[in-house]
Amino acid sequence: MEHRIGVFVCHCGTNIAGVVDVKRVAEELASYPGVAFSTDYTYMCSDPGQNLVKDAIKEHKLTGVVVSACSPTLHEATFRRAGVGADLNPYMVEIANIREQCSWVHQEDKPRATEKAIKIIKTMIEKVKQDEALEPIAVPVTKRALVVGGGVAGIQAALDIANSGHEVILVEKEASIGGHMAQLSETFPTLDCSQCILTPKMVDAAQHPRIKLMTYCEVGDVAGYVGNFKIKIKKKAAYVNRDVCTGCGLCSEKCPSKTDSEFEEGLATRKAIYTPFPQAVPNKPVLDAEHCLYMQSGKCGICAKICPVDAVDYTQKDEFVDVEVGAIVVATGYDLYPIINIGEYGGGKIKDVVTSLQFERLLSASGPTSGVVRRPSDGEIPKEVVFLTCVGSRDPEHHKAYCSKICCMYLTKHAMLYKHTVHDGQAYLFYMDVRTGGKGYEEFYQRAAEEDDVLYVRGKVSKLYEEDGKVIVWGVDTLTGQKVEIAADMVVLGLAMEPNAQALELAKKLKIQVNEWGFLSEAHPKLRPVESLAPGFYLAGAAQGPKDIPDAVAQASAAASKVASLFAEKEYHREPIIALVDEDECAGCRVCVSVCPYDAAEFDEEKKVAHIQEAICEGCGACIAACPSGSVTQKNLTDDQLFKMVTAALED
Ligand code: FAD
Ligand code: SF4
Ligand code: SF4
Repeated sequence: MEHRIGVFVCHCGTNIAGVVDVKRVAEELASYPGVAFSTDYTYMCSDPGQNLVKDAIKEHKLTGVVVSACSPTLHEATFRRAGVGADLNPYMVEIANIREQCSWVHQEDKPRATEKAIKIIKTMIEKVKQDEALEPIAVPVTKRALVVGGGVAGIQAALDIANSGHEVILVEKEASIGGHMAQLSETFPTLDCSQCILTPKMVDAAQHPRIKLMTYCEVGDVAGYVGNFKIKIKKKAAYVNRDVCTGCGLCSEKCPSKTDSEFEEGLATRKAIYTPFPQAVPNKPVLDAEHCLYMQSGKCGICAKICPVDAVDYTQKDEFVDVEVGAIVVATGYDLYPIINIGEYGGGKIKDVVTSLQFERLLSASGPTSGVVRRPSDGEIPKEVVFLTCVGSRDPEHHKAYCSKICCMYLTKHAMLYKHTVHDGQAYLFYMDVRTGGKGYEEFYQRAAEEDDVLYVRGKVSKLYEEDGKVIVWGVDTLTGQKVEIAADMVVLGLAMEPNAQALELAKKLKIQVNEWGFLSEAHPKLRPVESLAPGFYLAGAAQGPKDIPDAVAQASAAASKVASLFAEKEYHREPIIALVDEDECAGCRVCVSVCPYDAAEFDEEKKVAHIQEAICEGCGACIAACPSGSVTQKNLTDDQLFKMVTAALED
């Protein structure tokens, strides 16, 4: 077959052209064997740039195209679409990455960068010469979504997907949906009451005819692929038949066993049989076997005796439910960095040094002190309160180099709300920088400093210790260089936000990527911020990175709209660049089956050979590298293609 390849060299403004001599590259490649057309252009991805590619395909009857530009993750799809626009099979369009792999890394040596760009392009010309015209793989789509995590992000995603006409299963590991937002008092920057804006949404989610709420549940085994996931959901034993329970609360009222309340962050107690908070959805209890006298010693049994509908069942076991969904939204939220790790601030042993979430509960009208700020040690109203930002964040000592993004704002809110209740109190806020990047946030900070007299001190506190009923705060004001020592009544720590404790385990199960801190990784930070690299998984809320409520909700709606567009089509089209087993060569050793991270390689017991499931294979190449008989190849990346590409790269 005669090859008629087109080479299109992009300047990428000055990103490439500032280093690589693009004109020389285009000229030199014009005479390379198989090349029928070669040119350069300022922005190949722009409309005129794409038209240039389309027109050249038609005019020069091109059989293949090499666009020499940026990374294929950015614009491969763009140029493949341009190919289709000129009736060229999209898999006959290849990208030669001469930006990330050349101009950006060789700015110091322009002549050699130009030589390297030519070589990179030649390798891709050799590849496209042997490419086959492929068709995307069509897979059917189950139009039902799973949302994991029932915080504000998960609730919003579930409501939006359901409102677009599709069924949703919302799985929450705790006894109620609501997440951390349910614990907050008032919310910056508008100071509206958190419960007032959240609880109606919780009720909407519970009553929505297309949302199935599964609280006190966890995701078990996950199999399948985009459009066709099969999930086992574990319904944890609640020891209460929650379908029968009327939520009358008699059992909790009479239960004699108490323990620290998780919802109240240990500042109050709950019973062994409990609903996490009065506005919980569903408003039905679960029994905590570890603290139940009957479950531990066979004594008591009051709740079962008193329950008017016989809902308490001490013999209940975990159950597993199988569900099938087409898309999964992960909205598992955050935890605070454990206070126990901050030894220099008492490691959780100083009673009047509290976490930011504990302070939220002290400020909350429904909290343990009914919204009156009282210090935990003696219940006195604190007159001097110190708020510390960046505790664990931006701090390599605690391995959290990232900024938790919202602590400046919520500590400003804390200081302001404290001053609204204790008018003669003094609030000090230690900061590294005040970061107020949100609508109305800078004004909120100005209000705290100017109208509420919050004293902002730029500096880091080195130590906290207890002395004569006070918490001594040792720090330095880095603006004046002066040492600062405050005998505070109470200290509030703005602890780093980190991924939920179970996030890593869940990410492994779902086979989706996380970053070095354990936050879920998006496919592209700018262009695909709510999708995971693994198709069919979408990200929402603080599970993807520290976030405030507006951002968590916006991201949840964005994830929901991605799900809705997936469900809008009858079929989903997957990339056909996958592995293929040569059945005549396959020795049936099953090595590929053992290495495939996606469970796409299976063993055909009848034929005694390996088989790759097209709908699951991600084309990662693990099986190809592992196969001892060389019987697995990658479509459009065969050994022969690779050898020709290597030869082109080494020809001089
Ligand atoms: P979360 O609220 O953490 O919810 C995640 C949910 O997922 C939880 O219910 C959790 O139980 C569940 N989950 C986790 N893992 C699993 C699993 N494996 N399976 C099933 N379920 C799971 N933002 C503002 O905009 N204004 C404020 O005033 C404000 N104040 C704040 C004050 C403090 C002290 C803090 C720490 C944060 C504050 N925020 C504020 C931020 C706000 O809390 C978050 O933006 C919001 O809660 C993020 O919602 P989310 O749904 O992403 O996560
Ligand atoms: Fe409480 Fe357990 Fe007694 Fe029930 S049996 S009342 S949960 S201690
Ligand atoms: Fe599995 Fe091989 Fe496909 Fe990778 S290329 S997903 S290992 S079958």
